Amino acid sequence: MPLTGIEIFKLLPKTNCKECGVPTCLAFAMSLAAGKAELSACPYVSEEAKAKLTEAAAPPIRPVTIGVGDRALKVGGETVMFRHEKRFENPPGFAIVIKDTIGDSEVDARLERFKQLQYERVGLILRPELVAVKDESGDASKFEALASKVKQNSDCGIVLMSNNPDILAAGVKACADRKPLIYAATKDNLDRVADLAKASSCPVAVRASSLEELAELTTKLTEAGINDIVIDSGSRTVRQAFEDQVIIRSAALTKKFRPLGFPTIVFPSEMTDDPMKEAVMASMFVAKYGGIIVLSDFQGESLFPLLVERLNIYTDPQRPLATTEGIYEIGEPDENSPVLITTNFSLTYFIVSGEVESSKVPSHLLVMDTEGLSVMTSWAAGKFVADAIGPFVKKTGIMDKVKHHKLIIPGYAAAESGGLEEELPGCGILVGPRDGAHIPAYLKEWKP
Ligand code: SF4
Repeated sequence: MPLTGIEIFKLLPKTNCKECGVPTCLAFAMSLAAGKAELSACPYVSEEAKAKLTEAAAPPIRPVTIGVGDRALKVGGETVMFRHEKRFENPPGFAIVIKDTIGDSEVDARLERFKQLQYERVGLILRPELVAVKDESGDASKFEALASKVKQNSDCGIVLMSNNPDILAAGVKACADRKPLIYAATKDNLDRVADLAKASSCPVAVRASSLEELAELTTKLTEAGINDIVIDSGSRTVRQAFEDQVIIRSAALTKKFRPLGFPTIVFPSEMTDDPMKEAVMASMFVAKYGGIIVLSDFQGESLFPLLVERLNIYTDPQRPLATTEGIYEIGEPDENSPVLITTNFSLTYFIVSGEVESSKVPSHLLVMDTEGLSVMTSWAAGKFVADAIGPFVKKTGIMDKVKHHKLIIPGYAAAESGGLEEELPGCGILVGPRDGAHIPAYLKEWKP
């Protein structure tokens, strides 16, 4: 059983040295008990206390890694029910099913689509993570050949899906070095699948027909020394699957019920034949609390919104996405090129830089650190005002690099133009458009 805050406190040094980032050992103990702090934040815990505290410090939902290297997917590790409480930690993985009964050309087409469907947004590459190789043929050699083909033709994570331990073993043989997720251990094959997971050191998924049965099966696995577990409640209706996700998360977090403290796997692919409904269900599981979301196929029009939704849900709501402060050269600007300034809210930066790029007018874009706030918000907060912008522009030295000595400020900061003329003597302040969409037309009129 996990320890209470007071029990943890008794094991801490009680010096209140504050090095862990909170004022007292008691406060740190309470954070640990709530799963909101890492034990490693206190450098003074004795080895004996560490051993006792390991369980209390472990996240209530165990983190599990599928795959290896740069494309490894880490799921679980969550500590809150709602993202405004802290943040969601590890975004769910999207998987596409490839059955071992489909033809070679269709397998190739799906793998190719899997590779192609990736998008750059706010400086990040958004893409799906997993291919689920599914046994339908009942033929171990076919399953092994497909697992091998997936491994050779992609660097993604792999889920091996069969109820037959012999077929799963054939799949593991083909791609054990990729650390695939073995799906699934059930009450009928638990011992053999557990042996396979243990021998190959691969994570294993457990499927049950009720949450009670699920808890029994995970308990047996953990007693056998297997901890990298992903759980499937077995529900294949939207309502029941949704309820299960909430109950599992709540049991693990608020009741500290370890047998359900694992990331989940959900199957919109098995809940409908309608691709649009499948995408809608997947979007629900992104928000409510899928660990791995298995889809029957990927198409750009359904995958892209899911990837963007996932990005948004798994950003830290208390910390705006920010771009590094500095001078960004767009095109190949020279001493006659315009100089624009904006804030370092990532969305602002990407919109402004995208519009400058599309204008085809090479430009210098100054991005000022406003703690990730947009132009209007930072202006209203006093962070994007003349006496902050002036020193920043001087620090960049940009006016020594251009002959025209003009600075284009965003339309929403027009009120700062007078103050900036005082802050930057000799520099002409031009008020640019309010709306990013008007930047190309504005720049096309630029004359140094
Ligand atoms: Fe207490 Fe350790 Fe935090 Fe210091 S770092 S206040 S000893 S818990």
